[in-house]
Amino acid sequence: MITVMKFGGTSVGSPEALRRAAKIITDGKGSKVIVVSAMSGITNFLVKGADGSHEDRNGLIEEFERKHVDVACQLFEGKQLDEFMKDFGERMDKFRELFSDEAASKDPYYRDNIISQGERFSSLILGHVLRAAGVRSVALTSEDCGIYAEGRPLSGSADLQKTESVMNIKVKPYIDDGVIPVITGFYGIKNDGHPLTFGRGGSDYSAAVVANAMNADLLEIWTDVDGFMSADPRIVPDAIKIEEMNFGEAAELAYFGARVLHPRTIEPVRIKHIPLKVRNSFKPEEPGTIIHHLRKPRDDMLRSVAMKTDLSIIAISSAEIAFHPEMVARIIEKIADNEVVIYSISTSLSTVAFLVHSNDVKSIFAKLNTLDPGDIERIEVKNDMALVCAVGDNLLSKCGVSAEIFTAVKEARANVEMISEGASDVSLNFVVPMSRVTDVVRILHGKYAGGIR
Ligand code: ADP
Ligand code: ASP
Ligand code: MG
Repeated sequence: MITVMKFGGTSVGSPEALRRAAKIITDGKGSKVIVVSAMSGITNFLVKGADGSHEDRNGLIEEFERKHVDVACQLFEGKQLDEFMKDFGERMDKFRELFSDEAASKDPYYRDNIISQGERFSSLILGHVLRAAGVRSVALTSEDCGIYAEGRPLSGSADLQKTESVMNIKVKPYIDDGVIPVITGFYGIKNDGHPLTFGRGGSDYSAAVVANAMNADLLEIWTDVDGFMSADPRIVPDAIKIEEMNFGEAAELAYFGARVLHPRTIEPVRIKHIPLKVRNSFKPEEPGTIIHHLRKPRDDMLRSVAMKTDLSIIAISSAEIAFHPEMVARIIEKIADNEVVIYSISTSLSTVAFLVHSNDVKSIFAKLNTLDPGDIERIEVKNDMALVCAVGDNLLSKCGVSAEIFTAVKEARANVEMISEGASDVSLNFVVPMSRVTDVVRILHGKYAGGIR
């Protein structure tokens, strides 16, 4: 039995957390492969450095070094510390080189390289913690493993087939030999060997990719909450833990904003029928949430609700556009040119409206401007929008459920700007102004979550 265990930033973010993670790993049964995030706060720190907003590079490098050495000094002493510092020094040399490499800084993927550095150090520390505990382990980077990725800077997708064949050669022998690999999350490498990150929070996806490649029996995502909950507990403090979900439900919620899982985590495990558990590294005794193919149907109206903010609606009007599907196709082609994600589409006789991330509006406009001016009468943009995604067993099958949901929206004094129902068989999505979205989520959750029918 192979279990892939992923530890998030807070779960490796301090000496205590690292010791707890090591205990969870050694307590687990069967073969294990570990995937780690950077220690909490480190990726944000590197993002600032990559943006050049950090006062000076040497200061950044020193602070980065100090943050890791502080943790190491609390974990290791004597020979263990010496061994760690030797490996650490080698990595630090490469880290320094990266910041002084003028040519590399011109590469469009340079930021991927900078912001993925934290994982190289957290994996090294956890590998040494395991070794200090007498466990055979090896810290491996995505380069060492052959986790291949393709796509635009900062939003890579894994090449699952290539990753599987290379990892079988480079990583499987360790597992067969009883050595625990501790692998960097968050990024893969392009065919030219350069790092490409999977988007913020991407270590969950890395872990799913590793589980897929190693044909694991189970993927465990160890984080700082008891499991997948009925809402983000930071927004809805009385959110409850969900015991069991199916892949479709979890995928929709993750895609539409439930940060507990990176939006793309489900697919690599779903296609290999690998169950996934979300567990709390601060409370290993809690069973967490199991996500798999089937689950017992329940009668809850609402199982979980997620929200995604910073969205914009782009409404494009043209006379009788509904009778000109070729024009709609041309517009979509322009938007697709930018590889942007379209969260929802809605049409009427003369308008087609797209829901996109606000960061993408500028580039979409530039592309739309290249359309024939005769094609488009007007383009309107509504910013500061948020999408609410409600998942539940009865959402689409039971008469009147939508009416009840929109009653809750009315109570939150929010205007519904866009609705998408029927596109998925498990969720109902709608758009409200960002200023009202937390109220909508709280009221909706308060009325209908957790067994209220
Ligand atoms: P990690 O660093 O372990 O990857 P993240 O911060 O990325 O952790 O994800 C865990 C956080 O996700 C929780 O602390 C919680 O605030 C947030 N979250 C959002 N939606 C949900 C949900 N439905 N269930 C549980 N946690 C959620
Ligand atoms: N360290 C990366 C981030 O903060 C990836 C992750 O934690 O999943 O986005
Ligand atoms: Mg995360």
